[in-house]
Amino acid sequence: LEWCVSVPKVELHAHLNGSVRNSTLFELARVLGDKGVIVFSDVENVIMKDDRTLHEVFKLFDLIHILTTDHSTVTRITKEVIEDFAAENVVYLELRTTPKRNDSIGMSKRSYMDAVMEGLRAVSSVDVDYSPAGLKTNTFNGSTRKKMYVRFLLSIDRRESTEAAMETVKLALEMRDLGVVGIDLSGNPIVGNWSTFLPALKFAKEQGLYITLHCGEVPNQEEIKAMIDFLPHRIGHACCFDEENWRKLKSAKIPVEICLTSNIRTETISSIDIHHFVDLYKAKHPLVLCTDDSGVFSTSLSREYNLASSSFGLGKTEMFQLAEIAIDFIFADDGVKTDLRATFEEAVKKLN
Ligand code: 5GP
Repeated sequence: LEWCVSVPKVELHAHLNGSVRNSTLFELARVLGDKGVIVFSDVENVIMKDDRTLHEVFKLFDLIHILTTDHSTVTRITKEVIEDFAAENVVYLELRTTPKRNDSIGMSKRSYMDAVMEGLRAVSSVDVDYSPAGLKTNTFNGSTRKKMYVRFLLSIDRRESTEAAMETVKLALEMRDLGVVGIDLSGNPIVGNWSTFLPALKFAKEQGLYITLHCGEVPNQEEIKAMIDFLPHRIGHACCFDEENWRKLKSAKIPVEICLTSNIRTETISSIDIHHFVDLYKAKHPLVLCTDDSGVFSTSLSREYNLASSSFGLGKTEMFQLAEIAIDFIFADDGVKTDLRATFEEAVKKLN
């Protein structure tokens, strides 16, 4: 594991509210418990439960959102999550989150994202480069600290309407200079209809935003087919594909964000030895290892690499290549890619 920690890594599929530290969730739950808003022991039982089906995971997210959705907490968790990824040598992070509106506390999708940006600016353990022009960093004068790139994806929740999805896309366009690079479609896969989100996703693509879709978490082959036909820039998971869609995915060469622990914990894949990572890896299909929800699934990106190594017999050279090739699939510009490649070149010298 130590070696996996020391390798520079690229994280492309991490949900903000799924990556919150358990200790932070407990602290927040205790405060709300004392105020009588929730019952602390109920929350404790839910958070500590190890294995949960995909369905139960979404109930947990509803609970996490009760704990985290106010401006100052959103700022706090953003700072902590970015610092946690930095601590395990993630050199490029695409963090995704669903902008939330909550009129009762005066929260709009924009003010939610402003709170996220405030958290990013508060990061103090590393220098963060978050703007496409590379001009906006939180660098302190003369600093020689580690540098990390952070970009944002705004998620559309499958519970949302066409209008709400469109509002998220417009917000993403507004916040391009602040490091928002694309749109994600996520949320409970058995809720909502692909056609509801298509107008917003099409508009986003036309406007030059990158698109990644949660695709094939349940065996809805019609939806999977429609999603591949849309030609997103990446997809997440790709678990329940039939043969025809699998062929389509491979010929379209759409990069796949693979979340091993998440798939096993949610029982989307019954056992790691039959995980589709192997088939994609052997076919040299573009893929990237990711955490999904490091807090909810008690994992880290280093652990995901370690798991791939122990489960599929990858050696250090293969692991390093796997980490490095992820640069090809990031949603940032060529300048960032060049800089990241240099970081990996430096690292390979040190690791040898
Ligand atoms: P947030 O967007 O609130 O920062 O992060 C939590 C949200 O991400 C969840 O409410 C859910 O919409 C989405 N999410 C997190 N993990 C998963 C997953 O494994 N599958 C899907 N489809 N959505 C997820």
